[in-house]
Amino acid sequence: YSSNYTKLLKDRKSLPVYEALLQLENLLKLHQVIILQGETGSGKTTQVPQYLAGLQKKVACTQPRRVAAMSVAKRVAEEMDVKLGEHVGYSVRFDECSSESTLLKYLTDGMLLREAMKHPTLDQYDIIILDEAHERTLATDILFGLMKEVLQKRRDLKVIVMSATLNADKFQHYFEGAPLLSVPGRLFPVEVFFTQVAEEDYVAAAVKTVMQIHAFEDPGDILVFLTGEEEIETACRNIKKEANKYGESVGKLLVIPLYSTLPPSAQQKIFEPAPGPNTKNIPGRKCIIATNIAETSLTIDGVVYVVDSGLSKQKVYNPRMRVESLMVSPISKASAKQRAGRAGRTQPGKCYRLYTEETYRSELQETTHPEILRSNLTSVVLTLRVMGIDNLVKFDFMDPPAPETMMRALEILNFLGALDDEGDLTELGSLISEFPLDPELSKILITSERFKCSDDILTLCAMLSVQNPFLRPKESGEVADKAKAQFAHQDGDHLTLISVFSAYIREGQRQDWCSHNFINPRSMRAAAEIRDQLLVKFNKLGLQVLSEERGRSENIRKCICSGFFTQVACKEKSSIYATLKEKQCVAIHPSTTLAFRPEWVLYHEYILTSKNYIRTVSIINPIWLLELAPHYFELEGFPDSQGKRQLESL
Ligand code: ADP
Ligand code: MG
Repeated sequence: YSSNYTKLLKDRKSLPVYEALLQLENLLKLHQVIILQGETGSGKTTQVPQYLAGLQKKVACTQPRRVAAMSVAKRVAEEMDVKLGEHVGYSVRFDECSSESTLLKYLTDGMLLREAMKHPTLDQYDIIILDEAHERTLATDILFGLMKEVLQKRRDLKVIVMSATLNADKFQHYFEGAPLLSVPGRLFPVEVFFTQVAEEDYVAAAVKTVMQIHAFEDPGDILVFLTGEEEIETACRNIKKEANKYGESVGKLLVIPLYSTLPPSAQQKIFEPAPGPNTKNIPGRKCIIATNIAETSLTIDGVVYVVDSGLSKQKVYNPRMRVESLMVSPISKASAKQRAGRAGRTQPGKCYRLYTEETYRSELQETTHPEILRSNLTSVVLTLRVMGIDNLVKFDFMDPPAPETMMRALEILNFLGALDDEGDLTELGSLISEFPLDPELSKILITSERFKCSDDILTLCAMLSVQNPFLRPKESGEVADKAKAQFAHQDGDHLTLISVFSAYIREGQRQDWCSHNFINPRSMRAAAEIRDQLLVKFNKLGLQVLSEERGRSENIRKCICSGFFTQVACKEKSSIYATLKEKQCVAIHPSTTLAFRPEWVLYHEYILTSKNYIRTVSIINPIWLLELAPHYFELEGFPDSQGKRQLESL
């Protein structure tokens, strides 16, 4: 064995979970389902699947986040001294790294659901591990119910539910009779501080707090929780700038961002050691600025200080308003406790909460609501139908979603043509389910053949699947806007996205071209990769890639209407719009490239902030809607008087 293997083995043996492995193996002989709970960092994710694969079992281990799936797979391959993608692999949306010989596969919960569509009893696995179960993501919740059905059919299948020390009794209750194995925790005390008054700008407050820790506190690394890519990059820049002002009077500071859209090599940096002492012999430290991902998914050793904004991006769904959106929202008390715990893994630590104690007590909920209660279920319902689960009422949800939300999903699938009037899967429906995209996007991809614009719609679907490509740093907003204007298409933001991508390809996919034009190169690279994969699938299904110059813009927008006909708004007055069915007042997001405010628009996203915005907006003709989704508009009484008037005048 290599010396690295021997060293890692020693580390592994010191993890709390190591002692429990044999016990787990014995329990598995007696039970089909086991609940395993243990403190974050105790070795559940890296050690348990590895041990079971060592017994020559085929193991799948789910992760709610792609970053975690990839990074853990890489780590375990290293620990086992094997090449990633062979014995140990991973599978996340648009990135498969496994082979015939793979015994252990880490995959996102969403990917396991997709595998279950193809093989409903998951015969390719002996053991399925649902990890990070306490997070209660939508896909994990569906997998819980699915496991119940599969366990009936496959007496040989074993399921392990792993979670941080939260909720374990709920899992035990759900999987009746499943034994609970608890790995003894090892957590040092963490002193918690609140701010005296509410912070106006939590990013600035985080930067200030980091600098105070760095200048005045004992050695130890810092972990900061913020909510997303943009503010994390801003915080990183500002911390580096501040640290430079201090010169050699403070130690070296290594600042590392961590969020899901970073490429794996950049994510791996969080495991690098802190920098050594400077010329004055002051030890250095590393400072990781992360999203929620560092709360329980990834354990970073050496953290002694946690700075917690008290916020995270969360899915919010309102079935009455028919809107799902990501919103920066307060975390729960349970999350706040987990975050603080990250400071006490190796020695006593400190946690600085950037909110008041009063806010903590009165505004934070006890626990986070399961995602299934705040999601649009269209995609999930289609998945269940494809797996042959027809009776959704009988499906054993751990927390059943609101009937209204289910109805809404069935309705939309019917309007999209994925389910017929009896609620049975149509041919179009199974075609839609083939693409790893939301049903609306799959639908426009399939329709694009008819409108002879598949070349462009493939691009559009890829661009809509990545982070907003347009960068707009505060300090150079106007220059960035000018750069963006070069790509602006008169008919709307969808076409603008397509033209940015074309320009990127034309310019040879160059990084310097991106930075010159205020375009996020990561988004573009990701879009190019996703487009390639969608194209492969597209061809495999026998669909044709077409592009016709004549009527191009109109064809593209018509095609989009075939999937997104529910996301339409009509102008009320000057710049105020009303969404068609729900009559919500909205404004077009200032990021739009539209030069004027047209009568009818289709939008991709609805953003709830202090003001309600629609983002990624294009001009449409209401007549198209009647042509492309007659069913939807007939049933729901469209056109109403206003629409009718407009239609008559056309
Ligand atoms: P748990 O799942 O119980 O939270 P893990 O198995 O994720 O625990 O982590 C066990 C240990 O392995 C931790 O000390 C963690 O820092 C370490 N570890 C995990 N992934 C990596 C990696 N990619 N590089 C270095 N160390 C890692
Ligand atoms: Mg884990």
